[in-house]
Amino acid sequence: MPVTVKTFGSTGEAASALSSDRSARYLGGGTLVMRALNEGDISISTVVRATDQALSRIDVTSSRITIGAGVTFAKILAERELAFLHAPARSIGGPAVRNMGTVGGNLFAPNPYGDFTVALLALDATVSVQGGLGARDLPIEEFLQSRERQSGALVLAVSCQRPATADAFRYRKIARIKPKGGSVITLAAHLPVSSGRISGARIALGSMAAMQIRARAAERALEGRALDDAAINAAAAVAAEGVSPTDNALGSAWYRREIVGVHLRRLLSGLE
Ligand SMILES: Cc1cc2nc3c(=O)[nH]c(=O)nc-3n(C[C@H](O)[C@H](O)[C@H](O)COP(=O)(O)OP(=O)(O)OC[C@H]3O[C@@H](n4cnc5c(N)ncnc54)[C@H](O)[C@@H]3O)c2cc1C
Repeated sequence: MPVTVKTFGSTGEAASALSSDRSARYLGGGTLVMRALNEGDISISTVVRATDQALSRIDVTSSRITIGAGVTFAKILAERELAFLHAPARSIGGPAVRNMGTVGGNLFAPNPYGDFTVALLALDATVSVQGGLGARDLPIEEFLQSRERQSGALVLAVSCQRPATADAFRYRKIARIKPKGGSVITLAAHLPVSSGRISGARIALGSMAAMQIRARAAERALEGRALDDAAINAAAAVAAEGVSPTDNALGSAWYRREIVGVHLRRLLSGLE
């Protein structure tokens, strides 16, 4: 089946083209879209691209950072001000995938992918989306919950508050294929501390449900406490609450439930 490629100079035109055609798919870095096309996915008959420079812009001038949806992981790794996001960016694919793959595309990547999105969920990011009816900002959790319905919208950027200290944000990806591979589990934690106590803990998990989710019971176990062994053990003990992983070639649902507490304990303890 022939595929039409439409390239637009503005995000507005690209968003209109996407929202008016069910068979249109936006092309970010193409690491997943091109694979789908090469494998003969007949649900795609139009590929939409936008050359608007705003999509590849990074703004780190304030405590709130904004990353254009078209920014690649290689570009994030080259930006010193985004050091807190280097571990998640580095955990994605090999160099070729990091050179092409984008932050926007990662928001749509199915299991066992979507690692960068786990980090963004822990950081309580905002996703800026442009649909047929205009642009709006969505909390990332809301965006992920309605992801299936977002397929006709263009993601413009993501933004989040920079963690107050290097220690306040932690990330860990468990993969079987070293050094890189699909995720068995991905974990990220944002642990702001006020007067020695955690205030506003946020823990996100990848590959533990159909989409990236928060480990709310673990967050509650940490809230208002010092990050000591007792708090870490309490959080690890409830890490599997509310998860619904599935079996895949990288691990069974049973295995994922068994190890999520172990890896959360290591993440919170600062162990490698
Ligand atoms: C060999 C290999 C290894 C990989 N390893 C990993 C890994 O370790 N971790 C990981 O998380 N991922 C991995 N991936 C998946 C993928 O490369 C990344 O998730 C990447 O971030 C996808 O971004 P992209 O720009 O290439 O997406 P594309 O392929 O361009 O698009 C993917 C989907 O997102 C949509 N999309 C893209 N940008 C936008 C936008 N701005 N607005 C609206 N919709 C958009 C597309 O329409 C499409 O539906 C791997 C892929 C391959 C092929």
